Amino acid sequence: AKDEGGGEHCQYEPTLHAHAEERRKLEFSLRRALERDEFELHYQPVVDANDETVVSFEALVRWNSPEHGYVRPDKFISLAEDTRLIVPIGEWVLATACAEAVNWPPHVRVAVNVSGEQLIEPNFATTVVQALSDSGLPANRLEVEVTESIFLRDANVVRSALEQVMALGCTVALDDFGTGYSSLGYLRKLSFSTIKVDRSFVQGAAQGSAESLAIIRAVVAMADSLEMSTTAEGVENAEEAEMVRGLGCKKIQGYYFGRPMPVDEVQQVFARKGEV
Ligand code: C2E
Ligand code: CA
Ligand code: CA
Ligand code: CA
Repeated sequence: AKDEGGGEHCQYEPTLHAHAEERRKLEFSLRRALERDEFELHYQPVVDANDETVVSFEALVRWNSPEHGYVRPDKFISLAEDTRLIVPIGEWVLATACAEAVNWPPHVRVAVNVSGEQLIEPNFATTVVQALSDSGLPANRLEVEVTESIFLRDANVVRSALEQVMALGCTVALDDFGTGYSSLGYLRKLSFSTIKVDRSFVQGAAQGSAESLAIIRAVVAMADSLEMSTTAEGVENAEEAEMVRGLGCKKIQGYYFGRPMPVDEVQQVFARKGEV
């Protein structure tokens, strides 16, 4: 299962730049997609950098549209955020990821992406509690991934939401680190369990960029001293895996170890490895 489901590469192109009319159409279809249950989650493995065992899967939403085929999140997440549809979509993602991950071996965790818009909803923590109790997934098997863009929102609201989630026993990862608005102050105040080193740095370093290499080194050193873990994202080949392992990244994610896959293929991964 090297490739994602058949229709992954579709021609559907409306983006933020599209005309207002197209955006209205897309908003309407997204709303309907939620009602018709057209979203699904694909899961990408994250491995331990040392022994290459699977430690978790990141849930990545796909819109399986009867008209357009599989639509990638890049095509609809930002519109969903603008229209606040990300809130019900995100609730669905949380509930579904927990319900599916509860069937995995108990040492395998699941990571869910949460948008700022969703995180600052007053009932965000309640949504998490609900997803955990409905599914029976132990809180310590759920990781919430947020990006630096949350730091642009009300600091007290963000902090309180993240602290509530951590108090439940979930962990929080800081995604795409270094690509956005970085405030080192937040790293001190909020106990992220993991910092995810963005793929752009991995790629850059692999192509010989001294700057990218220096940034990865700095992030790993900082994470180590703050007792946070690091995940290198977007590792596509053995050389990159060797490089990020050498740089001290604790976990690795990328096409080299596995592409995002439908949930039934996740089960096959365990079966192959004799883990269940
Ligand atoms: P992300 O959270 O940084 O997720 C990683 C993205 O990198 C995924 O794209 C994944 O398929 C891709 N990727 C993983 N390994 C490699 C690799 O080795 N090479 C390359 N070229 N790409 C790799 P995807 O699935 O298209 O998701 C894009 C973004 O959409 C995610 O970036 C995340 O920000 C957002 N997203 C996905 N699912 C959700 C969700 O349920 N909720 C929210 N709020 N955002 C989501
Ligand atoms: Ca992510
Ligand atoms: Ca990322
Ligand atoms: Ca990204």
